[in-house]
Amino acid sequence: MRNKSSFDELSNNVISRGLCTGCGACVAVCPLQNVLTYKHRGPKLDGVCINCGICTRVCPRYKSSVTEMENFVFGRQRKIEEDFGIYKQVLVARSTNEEILRKSQDGGVVTTLLISALESGLINGAITSRVDTTNPWLPLPSVATTRDELIANAGTRYSQSPGLIALKDCVKAGLDKIAFVGTPCQILAIRRIQKFLPKYANSLVFTIGLFCMENFSYNDLMISKIQNELGINLSDIKKTNIKGKFLIYLKTGEVKEISLKETKKFIRPSCQHCGDFSSELADISCGGVGLDGWTYTVIRTGTGANLFYDTTKRDLLKVESAENFQTSTKLLAKLSRVKRSRLNS
Ligand SMILES: Cc1cc2nc3c(=O)[nH]c(=O)nc-3n(C[C@H](O)[C@H](O)[C@H](O)COP(=O)(O)OP(=O)(O)OC[C@H]3O[C@@H](n4cnc5c(N)ncnc54)[C@H](O)[C@@H]3O)c2cc1C
Ligand code: SF4
Ligand code: SF4
Ligand code: SF4
Repeated sequence: MRNKSSFDELSNNVISRGLCTGCGACVAVCPLQNVLTYKHRGPKLDGVCINCGICTRVCPRYKSSVTEMENFVFGRQRKIEEDFGIYKQVLVARSTNEEILRKSQDGGVVTTLLISALESGLINGAITSRVDTTNPWLPLPSVATTRDELIANAGTRYSQSPGLIALKDCVKAGLDKIAFVGTPCQILAIRRIQKFLPKYANSLVFTIGLFCMENFSYNDLMISKIQNELGINLSDIKKTNIKGKFLIYLKTGEVKEISLKETKKFIRPSCQHCGDFSSELADISCGGVGLDGWTYTVIRTGTGANLFYDTTKRDLLKVESAENFQTSTKLLAKLSRVKRSRLNS
């Protein structure tokens, strides 16, 4: 029989070793009310742990095996030549809706797929990320249940949003068909919940994973560097993006930049131990990989394929063959190899 573990196991093996991604999965599954809470960008024990071990089973950084999870999602292990994981098809796409394109990070594919699924009744809510109203650019989990909320939550915030916590909000709101959007570490966490504690994820219909090289400490990058040192009022920022540099687009039209060499200082320590660039366990994965106004889209599972083709049938996406975007495909493969090599260093 599997030995039960306690929160001390997570604390000693994950949190105090700088491996915690801040995904919030442990907080989402703890069966006790308000004992395991999320504070200061990570889990905190505020009461007495009953050593049930549930939190350790879902943590993406606790005895996690990629092979085991690939077998769970795809029924097989990735072949060595499958640089960016198992997939059915790669495409490049963008929304046909101007409002979505204006609000989204790249081609608005993520938001368009979610809107399509909501409008067709496939889902009745989606765990995405919104911006905190009092701390501009601080991402927080958000359960979106309308088209307007999905559009409001479009775009990228390059800090951790503990999306898994919102699983509890979905249950409270009575949502029984949900989508989940997240970074690779969060997709791994939700897949672990599906595998090891399926009752916590039985409302999950599909996952959309984002490509992710790293994310940054909100306090170090947004507050100390951008607000305090560069003197930029965070409310004046329209968008941030990474295209060879960290770009800050201001509402005035001005663009400020920080070199990637400098932003390295602000990377969360746990990202240095992360081997997945392209959300290899998601139903569909999306990223920018050097594109301008288009989303590179990796369809991985049958669920992902059905969602994508239903959306294109409704003329919500303009789709191009990835053959025409070889540079991005090569970049995706290269960044995936670089990231996987972090696991061995
Ligand atoms: C932390 C982070 C790092 C990334 N790094 C890379 C990278 O190195 N290379 C690359 O090619 N692409 C990266 N991406 C993905 C890229 O920024 C876009 O999200 C992706 O291309 C999809 O674009 P879109 O226009 O289709 O998405 P949109 O339609 O704009 O939708 C984006 C979705 O992401 C959600 N979201 C925003 N911020 C977060 C967050 N912090 N955590 C969880 N969900 C969030 C939004 O709520 C929305 O649902 C990163 C994304 C994040 C969040
Ligand atoms: S009660 Fe269980 S889930 Fe909650 S912190 Fe303790 S071991 Fe983890
Ligand atoms: S489950 Fe997520 S938030 Fe909890 S300890 Fe593990 S990585 Fe950190
Ligand atoms: S680099 Fe890895 S650990 Fe860091 S946010 Fe991205 S997926 Fe999570």
